[in-house]
Amino acid sequence: MLPSLFISHGSPMLALTPGPAHDFLRQLGDKWQPKAIVVVSAHWESRQLLISRSARPETIHDFGAFPQALFDCQYPAPGEPALAMRLARELNAVPVERGLDHGAWVPLLLMYPEANIPVVSLSLPVGWSNAELVALGETLAVLREEDILVIGSGSLTHNLAALQAREAPMPSWVGEFADWIYTHLEADDRAALLDWQCAPQARRNHPTPEHLQPLLVAMGAGGRATRLHHSVEHGVLAMDLYAFE
Ligand code: ZN
Repeated sequence: MLPSLFISHGSPMLALTPGPAHDFLRQLGDKWQPKAIVVVSAHWESRQLLISRSARPETIHDFGAFPQALFDCQYPAPGEPALAMRLARELNAVPVERGLDHGAWVPLLLMYPEANIPVVSLSLPVGWSNAELVALGETLAVLREEDILVIGSGSLTHNLAALQAREAPMPSWVGEFADWIYTHLEADDRAALLDWQCAPQARRNHPTPEHLQPLLVAMGAGGRATRLHHSVEHGVLAMDLYAFE
């Protein structure tokens, strides 16, 4: 049975710039060859739950001042409309035409560069409680038995106002929050994780919640957590990756 994953996608430049997280993702795809991928990205927020039924989802370059090489990146994986329509019924989600935002395509470009595994994206509904997001993941858990990889793509820490040079070390207030998440995931203390906003330095690391919320969906979809990767970019972007097996 496949795990569900929480992937910290960092800066869009992760697609092009070698480093610990980039290099880790490049070999991670060798572990599993799923039939399809369902991804919940921090970069597709919506008022109600939406799902992409696109057969040929376009690559969305949803960022500003980056090198042309990043805008030239394409991730031409197919969609899977039949799976999307089934999930729309099961999740009471609204099917729409929608491409892949960088939270979805940047990690997938590294994990599955051949872009031959169908990808269905699911939105992150604004205003849902932590418990509702975990429950959404629980509904997706059955997909793991069908060889479908469920991915939540966000960032373990994400204070863009405090962004530093790419190689800068992690400040203690970032490490404090990342350690708290690690400790409580290792202990499978889901009650504490439902209250993650009360963790030390939570607000400072997540002035808005959307980059942590995909972790709740991935946690709901899977079992016990294992941290597969831990590094930092720009000081404040913890690039942690968890598998929920
Ligand atoms: Zn992001």
